[in-house]
Amino acid sequence: MLALFLATHLMSGVVLSDPPLPRPANPPIRPRLIVLLVVDQLRPDQLLRYRGEWTGGFKQALERGAVYSHGLQDHAITQTAPGHATLLSGRFPAHTGIVTNDIGVVDSLARVIRDSGAVGASPRRFRGTTLVDWLIARDSATRVLSVSRKDRGAILPVGRAKSEVYWWSDLGFFTTSRYYRNTLPDWVAAWNARGPVARLAGRTWELLRPAATYPEADGSRYERGRDGRDAFPHRLTDRMPDAGAWLKHFPWMDSLTLDVALDGAHALGMGRRGAGRTDVLSISLSATDDVGHDFGPDSREIHDQLLRLDHWLGWFMDSLARGVPPSETVFVLTSDHGSLPIPELIPSAQGGGGRIWPAGLSAGLRRKFGPRWQSDFGFRFDYGLLVADVAALQARGVAVDSLRAALVQELSARQGIARVFTPATLASAPPSNRMAARWKRTIPSDIEWLVAVVPKENMSWSTDSVGANHGTPAELDVLVPIVLWGSGIRSGGHSRPVRTVDIAPTLARLLGIRPTARLDGVPLGEGERASRRFRASRARTTPRAARTGPP
Ligand SMILES: [Zn+2]
Repeated sequence: MLALFLATHLMSGVVLSDPPLPRPANPPIRPRLIVLLVVDQLRPDQLLRYRGEWTGGFKQALERGAVYSHGLQDHAITQTAPGHATLLSGRFPAHTGIVTNDIGVVDSLARVIRDSGAVGASPRRFRGTTLVDWLIARDSATRVLSVSRKDRGAILPVGRAKSEVYWWSDLGFFTTSRYYRNTLPDWVAAWNARGPVARLAGRTWELLRPAATYPEADGSRYERGRDGRDAFPHRLTDRMPDAGAWLKHFPWMDSLTLDVALDGAHALGMGRRGAGRTDVLSISLSATDDVGHDFGPDSREIHDQLLRLDHWLGWFMDSLARGVPPSETVFVLTSDHGSLPIPELIPSAQGGGGRIWPAGLSAGLRRKFGPRWQSDFGFRFDYGLLVADVAALQARGVAVDSLRAALVQELSARQGIARVFTPATLASAPPSNRMAARWKRTIPSDIEWLVAVVPKENMSWSTDSVGANHGTPAELDVLVPIVLWGSGIRSGGHSRPVRTVDIAPTLARLLGIRPTARLDGVPLGEGERASRRFRASRARTTPRAARTGPP
């Protein structure tokens, strides 16, 4: 399937012709604003598949951008937290310390403001610095605002800096944690007071365009309709009073996120400190992820979600441009991970797909070690990585190497598992082993672990019998778009593999600032040339439509 995917979407029109890009910044550029746009669970083929239908933000990105259509979140656990942590740090999970969602921003000491039922969140596990810290080192007045539906999507791009960082509470408002502040600022409180949930509660998600313009089938029984129905229309109406939590499964969550980000940009004067002073605005948009989980990355719902997001991004950029000239802004569009299709919908001609149930392994450990398995030995199996307190196991007389050998034997025999690494076999794997390399980039040297699992192609980690997932080191899970545009960046298409850890060093070079630590990524744009056919194809996009704001 991957070969077909690459042939269809990525490798077409690779004719090298343009001068290098981004233009080496000499002297460095000093944009007023860096805008990082993260579309959670966006694959490059989705961005290009509907290219002719974009009229808003995606159209602007593809027309003005240096478009890297083979971007990689080049690590093994392709989840939201580790993905976001790579973006402005320039470092892999093995070096940021953010390995999984569960070992991400969860922090019971950092309570969430106005939401005492929520688990707290902070960047305490994040190691090292980000572009935000490098900018602050040059200019201590640098303004930083980060917004997302998800706590991890808001927190991790900016690292440990105590910036303006806000995310959505399931109770139906934007908030933050006490790591950052003790009360919400006036502009967030004022935005919340406008009653975002009440404004949307009666809505029904209908198709934006005539049904005949969507080639996707609707209503597969493997889709997970949040309203109990798998086909359009989807209703939020009956979900009160929990609409604040349900809203995240609907496209409007993204319009709310962009709306609060715009209010924040105005309130904080982002990009308005005068020429040569650079601020950072990070926005992570999560509805694509939720809709993708529910209906799959090839669904009519994803198509419609992306049409809406394109429109809202266009509205957002137009609105932002009234305060900060686009010529003095640098935009980055990327994602935290890709996605696998709904396994049951992968045709047998492409090998078919399947689900692997991690709960089975945990149950096996429980049987073997009884009540001590978690409390004494800290066993935890999360997206292919089995961690444990190896020292405690040894102290209780467990022969850890024998345990590892038994685990390898048991797991290798299970359906859907291609390879099981131990620390020893991972260390000795050759650099050409792509899956081993992704695991090496994932596991910090001070984490004790027993085995790391590589699923077979088209196999998803799953806890449900419907919907789609991501989280494996497979190609479709690591694939993301990377698009940069604006001040100092030349447009063009690039098909060579690049990585999300390259974003931070690229921006640092453009800005003429120095990272304070060794990075895993390298600046993009060295001696590169864009695809001629890509440039020609950009002329085919549809004309721009009039835009209205979010609901
Ligand atoms: Zn997800």
